[in-house]
Amino acid sequence: MEPWSDENRERLIAVDRRHLWRPYTAADEHERRDPFVVVRAEGPWLFDADGRRYLDTNGSWWCNTLGHGRAELRRALCEQAERMLHVTLAGVVHEPAARLAERLAVWAPGSLNRVFFTDNGSSAVEVALKIALQFFRQNGEPARHRFLALPGAYHGDTLGVMSLGGVGAFVETFRPVLFDAWRPPEPPRDEGGWDWEPVAVAFERELAERGEDVAAVVLEPIVQGAAGMRVHPPWLLARIAEAARAAGALLVLDEVFTGFGRTGRWLACEWAGVEPDLLCLAKGLTGGTMPLAATLASERLFDGFRGGRSRALMHGHTYCGHPLGSAVALEALRIYEEERILEHVAALAPRLCEGFEAMARDLPGVQRPRSIGMVAAVDLGEGGYHGATGWRVHEAARRRGLYLRPLGDTVYVCPPLVIQEEELDFLLEGVREAVAEALT
Ligand SMILES: *Cc1c(COP(=O)(O)O)cnc(C)c1O
Repeated sequence: MEPWSDENRERLIAVDRRHLWRPYTAADEHERRDPFVVVRAEGPWLFDADGRRYLDTNGSWWCNTLGHGRAELRRALCEQAERMLHVTLAGVVHEPAARLAERLAVWAPGSLNRVFFTDNGSSAVEVALKIALQFFRQNGEPARHRFLALPGAYHGDTLGVMSLGGVGAFVETFRPVLFDAWRPPEPPRDEGGWDWEPVAVAFERELAERGEDVAAVVLEPIVQGAAGMRVHPPWLLARIAEAARAAGALLVLDEVFTGFGRTGRWLACEWAGVEPDLLCLAKGLTGGTMPLAATLASERLFDGFRGGRSRALMHGHTYCGHPLGSAVALEALRIYEEERILEHVAALAPRLCEGFEAMARDLPGVQRPRSIGMVAAVDLGEGGYHGATGWRVHEAARRRGLYLRPLGDTVYVCPPLVIQEEELDFLLEGVREAVAEALT
């Protein structure tokens, strides 16, 4: 492909600056930065308007698992587009959604046999909350209305799931209209990591003493993304799940980020041998290419919505079960299995882990290295989400051919799962140099 002409590039930037409103972006800061104009993406690489390539260490905001531009996904998309672009799922049966639901039900653990489709991760969790509430209201336990969440919880940006949110930078502005959710205090931490024991004890106590009105415990299992790619031990998940079950509350697992091999297992909850009552999937569902999400529920929950029109789940989106997204998801699932993506992640994970551990050992000021599967992070200061050090790393990484997005003072990577060994080495070397530069 031809490099873009300077004139094209400048015109595009001018139009963008005049009309676009970006997520989580301070306009003044964005306008000062050298714009990153991406014109093509392939494998783990992003190509800019000047023909330079950058490794996508961010997996395009945590969703790209199978690499960019996969020919098989493009083909699945085109073939479905030829037949039917979109038709509602309300009162209609169509093949892509039905086949994908069947595929997911077979793939998912245990009794998760029913699939409700939406089109983004926030909605997938919103639906889980509404299923939990409505289920209890119409099945003899109307008092169950409370939700419990982890400190630093992040489940999306709509008002319902934001109520569970524990990252202040995202939710404090909106607190006046959010509902109350219970979260224990932040776990104590030192330079090495976090102490999760007090969190487990707090959940056990809350559920044992006041569990009778809890509808659900909602968790990001094993890795809390927006909290700073914070990794917790499987026993924390196992103990909370056990306490929830004993209290008769539902367990909702938000695997929007962790699902489909990100942590080295299909689902992060497998690390703890825990099965949820409701499971939320999005990002990797289509390999990170289409807006599609799913909430999986057990047959027991589904049956709680039988018995008349007034008992039907009162939720729906225009594009639920979108044929294009569903067709691409079916193909993505085929690739995950055929290419043995989990084995690939297992083979490369120790290299990624060692790279981040070494950074913390060798570079003063680098703290709390953590990693699992194809995600790794370190902290560079105590500035939290609004800290500036991470953005200095972003700039330094860009000069080294890496696209890296920090979470404030947390520097993390979650590249496409299909990244090759030499590409991973390029990533690790670039991040290490960029961190060293940003800290001097
Ligand atoms: C990204 C994410 C969401 C929100 O998904 P959107 O598609 O951005 O709405 C929810 N939960 C987790 C754990 C996520 O990582």
